[in-house]
Amino acid sequence: MDDCIFCKIIAGDIPSKKAYEDETVLAFYDLSPQAPVHILVIPKEHIASAADITAGNSAVVAHIFEVIARLAQEQGLKDGFRVVTNIGDSAGQSVKHLHYHLLGGRDFTWPPG
Ligand code: AMP
Ligand code: ZN
Repeated sequence: MDDCIFCKIIAGDIPSKKAYEDETVLAFYDLSPQAPVHILVIPKEHIASAADITAGNSAVVAHIFEVIARLAQEQGLKDGFRVVTNIGDSAGQSVKHLHYHLLGGRDFTWPPG
């Protein structure tokens, strides 16, 4: 996807501070952190949002959650953390490439705003 900033990060055309990378998944630090730990975990395949997960592409989502569990442990988030994915404009999805926010290092309120 030519106009997708996360595809550009995957390609190395936009710099990022990487937290984890393998053949199918990239994790990098959010540019505008909303918590002491704020990492984005994305598939290397362009999937627009969680509304576009199908039987054909869902394996990477399972892998993403393995990566999230590993990152949470590495980051010392033993008291808890939050994983968020925004879908569409009314949920505030600003980048239309599937991403999971891993947020930790502080307490979170519920329900979210
Ligand atoms: P969302 O609003 O759920 O679509 O989340 C998009 C996230 O991407 C926001 O938290 C932004 O701060 C973050 N973001 C946008 N551009 C970059 C970038 N170049 N590097 C790291 N994070 C970014
Ligand atoms: Zn993309």
